[in-house]
Amino acid sequence: MTVSLGTPLTSTATRALLLGSGELGKEVAIELMRLGVEVIAADRYAGAPAMQVAHRARVVDMLDARALRALIDLERPHLIIPEIEAIATDVLAAVESTRLATVVPTARATQLTMNREGIRRLAAEDLGLPTSPYRFADSRDELEQAVAAVGVPCVVKPVMSSSGKGQSVVRSVDDAAAAWDAAASGGRAAGTRVIVEGFVDFDYEITQLTVRHSGGTVFLDPIGHVQVDGDYRESWQPQAMTEAALAEARRIAGAVTQALGGFGVFGVELFVAGDRVLFNEVSPRPHDTGLVTLASQDLSEFALHARAVLGLPVPDAGMRGPAASCAVLAEGSGVPVFSGVDDALARPGTDLRLFGKPRVDGRRRVGVTIARGDSVEQARATARAAAEALTVELVEG
Ligand code: AMP
Repeated sequence: MTVSLGTPLTSTATRALLLGSGELGKEVAIELMRLGVEVIAADRYAGAPAMQVAHRARVVDMLDARALRALIDLERPHLIIPEIEAIATDVLAAVESTRLATVVPTARATQLTMNREGIRRLAAEDLGLPTSPYRFADSRDELEQAVAAVGVPCVVKPVMSSSGKGQSVVRSVDDAAAAWDAAASGGRAAGTRVIVEGFVDFDYEITQLTVRHSGGTVFLDPIGHVQVDGDYRESWQPQAMTEAALAEARRIAGAVTQALGGFGVFGVELFVAGDRVLFNEVSPRPHDTGLVTLASQDLSEFALHARAVLGLPVPDAGMRGPAASCAVLAEGSGVPVFSGVDDALARPGTDLRLFGKPRVDGRRRVGVTIARGDSVEQARATARAAAEALTVELVEG
């Protein structure tokens, strides 16, 4: 099959609608635009990062099925590329079934991964992949029973949540009530349902980026990362692994991505203890820990996603060598202003992305430093030093 691409802003254009316009979507938008794709960036607030580099921006509540459908009917995209999980995915299923547009990677993948229950049951029960022990609960009482069944310590997470929101560790049955309250206030949707997972005492955790493309499946080098409060702070590539653990990571990633189907990049999150590997979750899209690939690969995860979703082949990502990323956070209220940028970029092999988030309220990731090095340790130290050289002030814009 030959793939042809049109010219943006003409009747020949290949149009891509990004649902979610954060920092990862911004990089995807740039890569699509490099290939002459017309990009429409949607999010629920104006001025989101990807909107700043797209042909058009649309502000829409993506959980509002009618509003989402109206946007799709208006823009008539060839590709719908979700960047977030909180989307009225039934609309995507309807659009896919009538072949109005291709949903990346598939509508079913977006439905299964927006809810921890869907993806956990697929991985553990349908595919028989190793995971932590788990139970689901819909009330305080059920949570207590679930904690007793799984055992302590365990981790309680709203099924509709990401980035550690509403998540807590339960160390004794007495903590269950507090965990329920934390989940109720931190979940994405009303009606708290939670998953209780056995706490995994892993040696390290990885993201196994996996690219499904028209010519097959590519596994990128494993990415190690550090999470604080369920949010990524540092990542590096490659993470050293035993041969057996790497083979198992790829077996799991291959199985789960094949079950989800479609073309694109997937971030398969795994816990590793010795040679044992447990599936945690998967993003059917580029992963935040994969920002490191901006330095470690000729084709970043964003470039690979753009290629794959367009039906183009990905013979190779072009691994360059050890690299690391370090998140730049801001806390408080206001518009970010960065100082020390010159200092941050003074070290050889260092790069920076400032996301252009229009405002911070609370704690948000506003940038990332990326560094190459002779070793992962050196790259991590450089990325950290660059992040420490930056000061983020929040001002009244
Ligand atoms: P998640 O939102 O499921 O990706 O969880 C965020 C982070 O919390 C993970 O990357 C782990 O560092 C930690 N975590 C989540 N689930 C568990 C678990 N069952 N055992 C130990 N740590 C966990």
